[in-house]
Amino acid sequence: QSKPQARVDGSTGVSFSDIAGIDEAVEELQELVRYLKNPELFDKMGIKPPHGVLLEGPPGCGKTLVAKAIAGEAGVPFYQMAGSEFVEVLVGVGSARIRDLFKRAKVNKPSVIFIDEIDALATRREGISSESTNNLYNAATQERETTLNQLLIELDGFDTGKGVIFLGATNRMDLLDPALLRPGRFDRKIRIRPPGAKGRLDILKVHARKVKMSPSVDLSSYAQNLPGWTGAKLAQLLQEAALVAVRNGHQSIQQSDVDDAVDRLTVGPKKLGIDLG
Ligand code: ATP
Repeated sequence: QSKPQARVDGSTGVSFSDIAGIDEAVEELQELVRYLKNPELFDKMGIKPPHGVLLEGPPGCGKTLVAKAIAGEAGVPFYQMAGSEFVEVLVGVGSARIRDLFKRAKVNKPSVIFIDEIDALATRREGISSESTNNLYNAATQERETTLNQLLIELDGFDTGKGVIFLGATNRMDLLDPALLRPGRFDRKIRIRPPGAKGRLDILKVHARKVKMSPSVDLSSYAQNLPGWTGAKLAQLLQEAALVAVRNGHQSIQQSDVDDAVDRLTVGPKKLGIDLG
């Protein structure tokens, strides 16, 4: 009844060198890696173990990537689930999944638990309307409450689970139940911001390592001229450019291939055939 289970990566294979443009966040998260590598040392030194970190920011800027890199750098198992996977109508299913997730992570500690889109399971509680005649709605609300309560119980009882780091990610901080944000549950909230021009260039460089790029391609011009493009979109750009290069029979990605890829990934009036005069 408590399927689906978390996807587990022995270790993610992702490292901080795969991330760019969010140096401050990465810097702050180094401490978690140090802790996961040697929880006993923190204990011996009398340092309160970190446990919960909330990653907040718009889609595609690297929240999942950062979470994976923490596990990857520390070489520990990574338990990943999406908030929506806990949302069920049947009472008790979501909370059983939470219990199961934490239990498995504790057995294999040190480890990292990551719940993406945590807002889906931890939405601000409106209170169950006893006047509502919609039983299905009431049951779903009740189930969501039970699931969130179970998550809070797990986070509060975390001292017994030393060596497990809990990471939650959201791009809708405003929707989160305040109970989740109370001190002691998340030690830290870290903003993962969209990259600026320098960040975009660094991200392009990271992804350029993964494809065959001609040294003549001027990545900085793209970094300058693509405001608003996230890490996810820039990664997609170089993948697309590689496909275009193959299609054009090039041995490595040329500037014209990247230009073509930008064009393909840009949806604008011109692309839609709208003449703005
Ligand atoms: P969502 O909220 O949609 O889950 P997210 O913030 O978790 O978004 P990721 O899934 O981490 O975004 O990013 C998707 C992909 O985009 C990454 O696997 C990576 O290839 C690329 N990417 C995103 N941000 C960065 C970054 N800062 N540095 C390098 N690559 C990035």
